[in-house]
Amino acid sequence: MGIDTERFRDALVDERRRVEHALATLRDEHPGSLDEEVEETAPTNDNHLAETATATLGREIDYTLGENSEQVLAEIDRALQRIDDGTYGTCVGCGDEISPARLEVSPWASLCIDCKRRAEGG
Ligand SMILES: [Zn+2]
Repeated sequence: MGIDTERFRDALVDERRRVEHALATLRDEHPGSLDEEVEETAPTNDNHLAETATATLGREIDYTLGENSEQVLAEIDRALQRIDDGTYGTCVGCGDEISPARLEVSPWASLCIDCKRRAEGG
């Protein structure tokens, strides 16, 4: 076990709080819009992808997580579960270790960068 899971747990709990707050704010400002317009739920964990999706829908939501927030929340919960299970930091696709640098950027990542690229068809 080469990574400090407790540190990532803190980061995840922190991020979860932020996303929940953002979701609550979005719901206040755009009642109903989140649930109605959920399109495809591809595994897009990275913020820039969320931005792209938001821009595509032409909405003026300046919080980068946009309508991906609920999915990010689910990802965070799964990551916390993996910490409890002792499988955190292991790619669910190929079983290799996810690079710590990637976890720094996306603590909830469940795929290594190779599997992630493959999942996105790139
Ligand atoms: Zn992998």
